[in-house]
Amino acid sequence: MKDLEAQDWESLKAAALACRECRLCETRRTVVFGEGDPGARVMFIGEGPGKTEDETGRPFVGRAGELLTRIIENGMGLNRSDVYIANVVKCRPTVDQKGTRDRPPDPEETAACSPYLVRQIELIQPEVIVTLGNPSTRFLLNTSVGITRLRGNWAEYRGIPVMPTYHPSYVLRNGGEKSPLRKDVWHDIQMVMNRLGLPVPGK
Ligand code: SF4
Repeated sequence: MKDLEAQDWESLKAAALACRECRLCETRRTVVFGEGDPGARVMFIGEGPGKTEDETGRPFVGRAGELLTRIIENGMGLNRSDVYIANVVKCRPTVDQKGTRDRPPDPEETAACSPYLVRQIELIQPEVIVTLGNPSTRFLLNTSVGITRLRGNWAEYRGIPVMPTYHPSYVLRNGGEKSPLRKDVWHDIQMVMNRLGLPVPGK
């Protein structure tokens, strides 16, 4: 993997857009670098682009993205453009690399792509990171423990507080709007809001 430590935003993004460091480059349509405020107080990190993200080059714009946007805007009272949203891998992983069914990135793909994410975090220096689901949580916390046990508890990545919570896709797959997991996610997000000093409705 290239040394990305000294890269600024422009050169980091240019390197990602041209990257062929892992096999995901063979089936991607676009590289989904990430988007948002480079000075954001909070950073959300998911696992990888899905179909809509691969088509548009933007993170979290499918159904799961709509749920994440509602969490940020209706729940936290922020604009989506106030935060930074990225993934552990920047190209879409699919089952058997067939471009049809999404899957989580495997450890090799995560290892190959992680220097981009590490440098994004270094450049942003967020006050809080929210990891969405297993791949980003496991990578940042260097653990094999699952999200169900880790969510709702503060952890740390290089001195930055990390709040792990469920990935919006997982919530949608498990009951959607009526899912009991939504209560857990809201609980975790309220902890983030408290930490950032944001007003929590009803408190
Ligand atoms: S997933 Fe990451 S490491 Fe792999 S080709 Fe895309 S940008 Fe490069």
